[in-house]
Amino acid sequence: LGDRFKDIFKKVSGQGKLTENNMKDALREVRLALLEADVNYSVAKNFVAKIREKALGEQVISGVNPTQQFIKIVNDELVEVLGGSNVSIAKADKNPTIVMLSGLQGAGKTTFSGKLAKHLKSKGEKPFLIGADVYRPAAKKQLKVLGEQVKVPVFTIDESTDAVEIVKQGIEASKNEHATYVIIDTAGRLHIDEQLMNELQDIKDSFNPNEILLVVDGMTGQDAVNVAKEFNEQLDITGVVLTKLDGDTRGGAALSVKEVAGKPIKFISEGEKLDDIAPFHPDRLASRILGMGDVVSLVEKAQEAIDEKEAKKMEEKFRKNQFDFEDFLKQFKMIRKMGSIAGIMKMIPGVDTSMIDMGMAEKEMKKVEAIIFSMTVQERRDPKLLKNGSRKMRIAKGSGVQVNDVNKLIKQFEQMKQMMKMFNSGGIPGLGGGFMK
Ligand code: GDP
Ligand code: MG
Repeated sequence: LGDRFKDIFKKVSGQGKLTENNMKDALREVRLALLEADVNYSVAKNFVAKIREKALGEQVISGVNPTQQFIKIVNDELVEVLGGSNVSIAKADKNPTIVMLSGLQGAGKTTFSGKLAKHLKSKGEKPFLIGADVYRPAAKKQLKVLGEQVKVPVFTIDESTDAVEIVKQGIEASKNEHATYVIIDTAGRLHIDEQLMNELQDIKDSFNPNEILLVVDGMTGQDAVNVAKEFNEQLDITGVVLTKLDGDTRGGAALSVKEVAGKPIKFISEGEKLDDIAPFHPDRLASRILGMGDVVSLVEKAQEAIDEKEAKKMEEKFRKNQFDFEDFLKQFKMIRKMGSIAGIMKMIPGVDTSMIDMGMAEKEMKKVEAIIFSMTVQERRDPKLLKNGSRKMRIAKGSGVQVNDVNKLIKQFEQMKQMMKMFNSGGIPGLGGGFMK
């Protein structure tokens, strides 16, 4: 998305409002980006419709352009839809907390059991694993190996026994270990089938788990919707685990699953190793889906730094061509509040900062500031006075530059005013000035 937005970025910058017109391309790109990130088709469509409604007529804040603001709106909405903030794993009032895993075969349930055990252990909990995948003998073995690796007890029954019986005995055994968490690894199927669902339902009804996590393969994309829908309808899951996000995926499945099931995503996993488990953070995944994290923070910074009223006044002055050196200084101050020029440039996607000499830009800005500081208030308010040669000489001396530098600044200032007159559309005074060249 980053690359795509580069062009739209150019097209709509300099406009003061988000309109149907300047958003059209951007909305299309968002939809495509979502689809590319494997978000389900209708989920993507609904999402874009919501964005259109939210963004339409939104006034663009100073210091950013409409595209940047648009991206911020998209990002915020995405974070919201993804759940807002992290929801941590349930903790029962009375030990042990029972966590049941569910999901299709190969989704990563057994691996995740080990990961979760390790994670909980590192938090000072005493986890206990139960292997209740009764269809694949190898699965019980797999869990035992994982349990040994993380040094967490594993209970299972090797002879063919039904899953409910294994879990029953397992929970009993966990009490001797004073376990605080019991993690139940269950069987999966390649596809959803009734027998599997009934078995999971039985476990649920018998033991009333505090947490029923659906483990979803993050690479499955479109299919994730059906899986989430079915499992949630059958089991009324309490949360989702998204695995295999280390693969070649932007994680769009998260959005689909959240939309369809409406349950929080609690963990993600980004690899096969036991340490590859992380609490889910909607903001991080939103940036990943959009690939635009830095723009968001730029807009947030601008929002913080810029006093809207002040900016409006400034725009008005621009329009009436009354912009003077005093206003200029104020603009500089606003930019300063946002951080260094280098920092700001780096946050803008599509700007190749390797091509810009940041040190020079900062230096240039300081020089300009110094020159303006050496002007009298009258001179700042009435730049015409600066036609006078002795005034220029005095300013140059005061700011430690050559008269030539003063001339250059005045000339550029006049050019900028001319340009502003021509475009006369407000926009972003200050950020667009031509001094840095
Ligand atoms: P289960 O059938 O749901 O129990 O799935 P498993 O836990 O047996 O995992 C299936 C395969 O996916 C195994 O080869 C795991 O190593 C692999 N796997 C699980 N989680 C991840 C992950 O986050 N990233 C990657 N790359 N592989 C994973
Ligand atoms: Mg398994």
